[in-house]
Amino acid sequence: MVRVSGTRISAWPPASVVAGTGAAVAGIAATAIAAAKQAGFRTIINATLFDNAKPERVAAFFDDVMAMGLDGISVSPGYAYERAPDQQHFLNRRKTKELFRGIFSRQGKVKWSFNQSSMFLDFLAGNQTFHCTPWGNPTRNYFGWQRPCYLLGEGYAKTFKELMETTDWDRYGTGNYEKCADCMVHSGYEATAVTETIRRPWKAAAQALRGIRTDGPMAPEIPLTRQRPAEYVFSAHVEQAMARIKSRKQEPIADTAD
Ligand code: SF4
Repeated sequence: MVRVSGTRISAWPPASVVAGTGAAVAGIAATAIAAAKQAGFRTIINATLFDNAKPERVAAFFDDVMAMGLDGISVSPGYAYERAPDQQHFLNRRKTKELFRGIFSRQGKVKWSFNQSSMFLDFLAGNQTFHCTPWGNPTRNYFGWQRPCYLLGEGYAKTFKELMETTDWDRYGTGNYEKCADCMVHSGYEATAVTETIRRPWKAAAQALRGIRTDGPMAPEIPLTRQRPAEYVFSAHVEQAMARIKSRKQEPIADTAD
């Protein structure tokens, strides 16, 4: 499978834009998609949306990439990484839901093939109240297994077993932690959507039949009144991990057998 990331929708379609870095990147991405398809790969794109995304442009972009023979679209709202240099353009929950309703309502004759569950897409459109499953997409990087998810770096475990058994999962997720307040990313919520589909298949079947609702009242939001305040610990954890690596140059920092 080939995943193509990093193309700005504002620079799409590449043929209609004559200059600029975005146009060049979009052109490269379009060429890469064509080459991957020609070579017989299953090819999907990764579309992360920010608050400057325009529903009509995103919808046109989805039409275009499907017309190119793409096998799937992975879509998610951007998450406000604490170390991201531009903190202004991340979406809050209300804006996320309105954006996705605007996009999904514009699906026309071209069928968009998403790489995610219908229940997760329904959640993005504000029709489901889901709690995060932080361990749903565990992340392992150079420092070890990252707690609690790939978006937040609040410590590292040496093994997967240690990650699962020693992380206090109830401290994370919307309603539990200030940093999670605006997160609707597939990292934590796709796993919840899939769990819900398995646990209540009749509900998932009804949702699949009706499709993604793009108007009417939204599902209740999780209250934020009891969330704990943000702790800015990422840099300290990275510095500790770097110090550990320097002091044990010859040793692996995580047990890859787990
Ligand atoms: S809500 Fe879940 S996925 Fe999102 S940042 Fe918090 S723990 Fe990670």
